[in-house]
Amino acid sequence: MAEQIKAVALISGGLDSMLAAKVVMQQGVYVEGINFYTGFCVEGHTHAIRAKDRAKPKRNNALWVAEQLGIKLHIIDVIDEYKDVLLNPKHGYGKHLNPCLDCKIFMVKKTLAWGFMEERGFDFIVTGEVIGQRPKSQRKETMPVIARESGADDRLLRPLCAKNLPPTLPEREGWVQREALFDFHGRNRKPQIELAQSFGFTDWAQPAGGCCFLTDEHYAQKLSDLWRTRGSRDYELDDIMLLKVGRHIRPAPHFKLIVGREEGENQYLEGYRKQFVALRPLSHKGPLCLIDGTPSAADIELAARVLARYSQGRSADHVTIVAEEPNGVARDLEVVPLPPMEIPTAWHV
Ligand code: SF4
Repeated sequence: MAEQIKAVALISGGLDSMLAAKVVMQQGVYVEGINFYTGFCVEGHTHAIRAKDRAKPKRNNALWVAEQLGIKLHIIDVIDEYKDVLLNPKHGYGKHLNPCLDCKIFMVKKTLAWGFMEERGFDFIVTGEVIGQRPKSQRKETMPVIARESGADDRLLRPLCAKNLPPTLPEREGWVQREALFDFHGRNRKPQIELAQSFGFTDWAQPAGGCCFLTDEHYAQKLSDLWRTRGSRDYELDDIMLLKVGRHIRPAPHFKLIVGREEGENQYLEGYRKQFVALRPLSHKGPLCLIDGTPSAADIELAARVLARYSQGRSADHVTIVAEEPNGVARDLEVVPLPPMEIPTAWHV
C-alpha cells in the first residue's frame, strides 16, 4: 500500500492559505494546519471590542478555515519569540512596521522546529504565498530566500504560484502533480476567487491590508510613539493590545491618555484600571480614560480636563472627574473642559 503523504499548511485564516491547503488535499495529501499567534493578529479582535462592529461575525478565522477544510489545526503562541522578529528584522520592514519577510521565514522555521517533519512524519510544508502579491515579501526573488533561510529548502511548496517557480521536492517525487498546481501572480484576486468558487467556498475572510496590525499605518505610528517615549524598543502583550483600542493622546513624553471611543472600548479598558491611573466623569456621561506613564498631579489634572472635553459636559462650566490610582485610592477633581483648540493635533498619536 502506498504510504500516505503528509503536509503541514500555514493557515493565516485568509483566502490564500485556505486555497493552498485545499489544492494539495485535492491531490490526496493528508494536511494539518498550523497558525501562529503573534499578538498583532487582526483576527476579529476589534470586532469583538467595538460596539459598532457587533453585528459582524466574531470568529477565529484560522479555526474557521480549518473547519471548512476538515483539518486539524495547531495554534501556537509565539508572542515572546516574535519580539526578536519585529525588533530586529534582518530584511527590514514593509510599508509600516511589518517585518513580512522575516516573519514568513520565522513561521516556516518554527513549523520545522515544532516537530512536524521528522517526529511526526510530515513530508513538506504548504503556504499560500503568491508571487507579486506583496511588494516587499512576496516577490519572485524573496521566495528562495524564505525557503533557504527557514531551512525548509525545497520542502516548501506554494501551490498557488508553484508553476512560476522551480519544481520542489513534492513535485519531483510525484507526491503532487505540478500540472494541477497554479501560476497565480500579482495583486489581482480574481483567479483566487474563481478557484474558491470552483471548490464551492462561498465565504472567506478578507482582512483589509493584511493579516496583522503591523501593516496598519496608525497602529505602526502608535507603536513607534511607544518605543520613542519609553526610550527603548520593547513591549509587553498588554502594550500591544492597548494600542488596538481607544484614542491615544500624548500631551508630554512621560504620559499619554487612552480614551475609550465607545462603550465597547470603555468596557475593554475597564479590565486594565488596576494597572493605570483611571479617570471617569462623574457629573456627566463620558468615556473611561487610562493614563499610561508617570503622570504628576498637574498631569492628572490636565488629563481630567482633556477627558471632560470628550464627555457630555464638554460645554459645561465644570465637570467632576474621579481619578483612581491602581491601589484603589480615588479623589474627585472639578475641572473646566479643555477647549478643542487647546488640544493640539500633535498630541494625537
Ligand atoms: S502581515 Fe504581519 S503576520 Fe503577515 S507576514 Fe506580514 S508581518 Fe507577518
